[in-house]
Amino acid sequence: MDAALPERADAVVVGGGIVGAASAYYLARRGISVVLLERGAIGEEQSGRNWGFVRQQGRHPLELPLAMESNRIWQTLETELEADLEWTRGGNLALATSAERLALYERWLDAAHEWPLEAQLLSAAEVQDLIPDLRGPVVGGLYTPSDGHADPAKTTQAFARAVEDAGGTVVSGCAVDRIVADAGTVTGVSTDRGEIATSHIVCAAGAWSSRLLRPLGLVLPQRMVRATVQRTAPLAPITRAGVWAGEFSFRQRRDGRVILAGSRVDYDVRLDSLRQLRGFLPNYWRNRGLFRIHVGRPLLRDLVDSIGAGDRSRHPFRHRHAVEPAPNRRDAARALQVFRRWLPGLDPVESEEQWAGVIDSTPDAVPVIDAVDHPRGLVVAAGFSGHGFALGPIAGRLVSELIVDGAPSLDLRSFRFGRFAEGALAEPRAVL
Ligand SMILES: Cc1cc2nc3c(=O)[nH]c(=O)nc-3n(C[C@H](O)[C@H](O)[C@H](O)COP(=O)(O)OP(=O)(O)OC[C@H]3O[C@@H](n4cnc5c(N)ncnc54)[C@H](O)[C@@H]3O)c2cc1C
Repeated sequence: MDAALPERADAVVVGGGIVGAASAYYLARRGISVVLLERGAIGEEQSGRNWGFVRQQGRHPLELPLAMESNRIWQTLETELEADLEWTRGGNLALATSAERLALYERWLDAAHEWPLEAQLLSAAEVQDLIPDLRGPVVGGLYTPSDGHADPAKTTQAFARAVEDAGGTVVSGCAVDRIVADAGTVTGVSTDRGEIATSHIVCAAGAWSSRLLRPLGLVLPQRMVRATVQRTAPLAPITRAGVWAGEFSFRQRRDGRVILAGSRVDYDVRLDSLRQLRGFLPNYWRNRGLFRIHVGRPLLRDLVDSIGAGDRSRHPFRHRHAVEPAPNRRDAARALQVFRRWLPGLDPVESEEQWAGVIDSTPDAVPVIDAVDHPRGLVVAAGFSGHGFALGPIAGRLVSELIVDGAPSLDLRSFRFGRFAEGALAEPRAVL
């Protein structure tokens, strides 16, 4: 994965997260000469740090067809990529502690049943059958048996290895400084290790996509929040399902360790937050209990960079700040406390490691997957809004279809880039 930079390729994918790696994989499988460029290590950002939930459950009805097709790919992905991904098809279970919450799930089920997705409401007793040790104040739940979970880093790295096996090139430790276009068409990328000429570029740069696109005159509204995760020491079997419980969420790995998260995220105000405040205001208002807002060093650093003339201002992608965001230790301690209270029969639950990741999202919390009109040859696949691990495989396949076939096999109109400028955002209808 530290191959030399070729001078030319049919397609260049920027960003070695799951979306970029899957895009490069499907392109390579279609016979395209493709180069995947990652400025750090493969899966170093969101795709290697997430909870690992692969769920269709609770998704926006517009996103469901993509989530369902991705789920279908996930079922056989270990065989396809010839890798152990720790894939567990244990279903996803969203718990409810109030009748209002159950009613919300019921409304989502009505929308979900437009599609052939197996999903059902469970009584408190049925929830207890799935998690016998559970003692929380649960009145019922929403269950989707075909959902599952997997190891984020292993999956992303397996996609990148499969790119090479299929004849593509993977270069890590290579930052793309800019996308080059001429007369309205992309012509190549300029990187810290040289240039590559190409007629197709995929922007799959995760949380950095907005900055990479800005010099091309493309405005992608993108918010970044910091989410904390922890891993416990091994525990006796609890459940094979991924569990969302409001105050905490968890999944149990094959080795018994639990990946556990709390209910809130940290929002570090940045220069882009101010630039894009208007677009995100309705979203902030709807989710006002979710964010802890901080004004401090990230904003200061952005301000300094915006007026500075140093190397970091000239080459923002070469300086990998914010790659190791600080976990919120209080949030982690609280999640552990509630987890222990809801599952009191377990042996003492100890936290082994805590970390954080930056989640990028759009104002309507669904991604952009689109071949933009200008410059021609550019496909944007970004803004996965906390759903990109589950959607990664289908996002990659759709990107390859946009480039090779010129048309995707699923309807992507709701995910077009232009919806922000048109003010045609998706209505908020996701429930988790
Ligand atoms: C804590 C946390 C929990 C989450 N839980 C879940 C979950 O349970 N289920 C789920 O489906 N999703 C979850 N998500 C969301 C999911 O992880 C993301 O949506 C998904 O990983 C996005 O993938 P990506 O490839 O778009 O971005 P990333 O994984 O962030 O990859 C983008 C890559 O681009 C590289 N890059 C950026 N700029 C450049 C450049 N100029 N040159 C070269 N490389 C560049 C970056 O280094 C990075 O590696 C979670 C996210 C976090 C942080």
